[in-house]
Amino acid sequence: MKKFSYKYYAHILERCRAEGYRVSSFTDFDPSSPKTVILRHDVDYTLDGVAALAEMESAAGVTASYLFRVHAHEYNLFAPTTFVLVRKLKALGHEIGLHFEAGSIGRALDMPAAELLVREKRTIETILGQEILTASEHRDFSHVVHDTPALDQSLDIYAFGFKFYAMDPRYSKDMKYLSDSNANWREGDLLDHLGKFNRYQILIHPDWWFESDLLLKGKYAHGNGNGG
Ligand SMILES: [Zn+2]
Repeated sequence: MKKFSYKYYAHILERCRAEGYRVSSFTDFDPSSPKTVILRHDVDYTLDGVAALAEMESAAGVTASYLFRVHAHEYNLFAPTTFVLVRKLKALGHEIGLHFEAGSIGRALDMPAAELLVREKRTIETILGQEILTASEHRDFSHVVHDTPALDQSLDIYAFGFKFYAMDPRYSKDMKYLSDSNANWREGDLLDHLGKFNRYQILIHPDWWFESDLLLKGKYAHGNGNGG
């Protein structure tokens, strides 16, 4: 089966079900459930694929956390098409959260990261008209090149009113944490992992998942002039 295809994703969800995992967003996470998968999506650079993943999850009877940026060049949460997409995610029962970048953008704009994080949270809450409970940090190449530490090194993310911080050791150390960064399961195929641990946080970037030539031809693909 082709890795990072929708079919492969549907198979992952089916394997979770078959192995008895309760798959959910952060807000739907039930700590008393013995076998758990928290499903997180950082929406980095493209909206292609977001609806498809969300529909597959809904069909499988599970929820996920979709964490959006507010500084992205590639999409604007308040653009009507994006707003409609977010509304659809919510209607399917998924959680919307913040993929913050107050550390790096704060450096870029010479603004204190704490002040920026407050504004990021307020911005997404204003756009969506609801409280945002879950956050993760967007870390791009600039973090490596300019040696920008994770914001949680200098700030208590919970002090900003979030209820779930994705990289809290409770969800990233006490649980087996697996990510598809750059379309690569660094620790090996997720399907080989399932069943070895009782609790997982799985990070899936919609950017890397596709049907046929979506990465080349999708509305937000890099090659078609719309993407960044
Ligand atoms: Zn990111």
